[in-house]
This record gives sequence, structure tokens and C-alpha cells, in this order.
Amino acid sequence: QRLAFHILDMQDADVVELAKAIVNAKKYTKHCQRCGNMTEGELCSICSSLKRDMSTICVVEDVRDIAAMERTREYKGVYHVLHGTISPLDGIGPDDINIKSLITRLNTEVKEVILATNPTIEGEATAVYISRIIKPMGIKVTRIAHGIPVGGDIEYADEVTLMRAMEGRREM
Ligand code: ZN
Repeated sequence: QRLAFHILDMQDADVVELAKAIVNAKKYTKHCQRCGNMTEGELCSICSSLKRDMSTICVVEDVRDIAAMERTREYKGVYHVLHGTISPLDGIGPDDINIKSLITRLNTEVKEVILATNPTIEGEATAVYISRIIKPMGIKVTRIAHGIPVGGDIEYADEVTLMRAMEGRREM
């Protein structure tokens, strides 16, 4: 509704430009052949960047998670987008998401795989599944820590969050 009112307020010429841009974005945007990120070319800007550390792969559920990670400006490795999670109740198995393409990416150059799936039942199950495949390959597998959000209050945190926060503690 907000978008509709915004468009009504726009100049006709701008609306045409916007419509064209949307059509083109839909037409030319595809998934990066290596990591599954959005791109207009074969490889996305992260995979084709010489500044990124190819030895660390951060596995995420969704393309939008990459944008969130990039906002931190802390992570210098590359990504792999699963485009979903394993969810037996919804009939989604390991072959239905981008796991095979992750395994084929794991050459001798890769030193660490960070599992950054969401802290949901499906996200956890997916992380466990992937770690069981990758660990025997001799590659370090890590899981992002989940805990108390900044500005949050320990008193009001649920048990699972608090447990994760304790598990993810680090030495100071
Ligand atoms: Zn890519």
C-alpha cells in the first residue's frame, strides 16, 4: 500500500523508468554459478573480487543474509547460499537445496566453512547435516554463535537463547 501511494505521487516519466528498471532487474538477475548470490554475470561481485579470502566460506540460507553479513564489514571471506533449509515436514530434503554445489567447491584451498544458518529447528538440522559431510574431509567447520542481542536483557532471554549464549562464550 505504501508503495502504491508512493507511485501515485511520482511523475509519469519516473514511473515508466521504475517499471523498466524492475523488468530489467527481473530479466537479467540470476544466481552466481559458484555461490548462489544474485548477479547479472556468471559470477557475483564477491566471488569475482580479488580482495576476498577464498579459504573461508560462510554458508547462509538466503541471499538477503549476505547483505546482512556484508553490512558488518567484518567478514572478508566468500559465501554459499543454500536457498532454503532441510525441512522434512515440508518435503525439503538435502538434494532440494544448494548443498551439493557447496561440497564440490571444497578444494584444498578451503580451510574453514562457517555455518550461518538461522537458529531455528530447520537451520540447526541443516547445519548439523552439512557439518557431518564436511568434517571428515578435514576442513574446519564452525557455527556462528547465537545469543543475547545487543541492547537485550538477560532476564528476559528465553532458555534456548541463553544456553546458546553460554555455549558461544569466549575468553576475554
Ligand atoms: Zn558468488
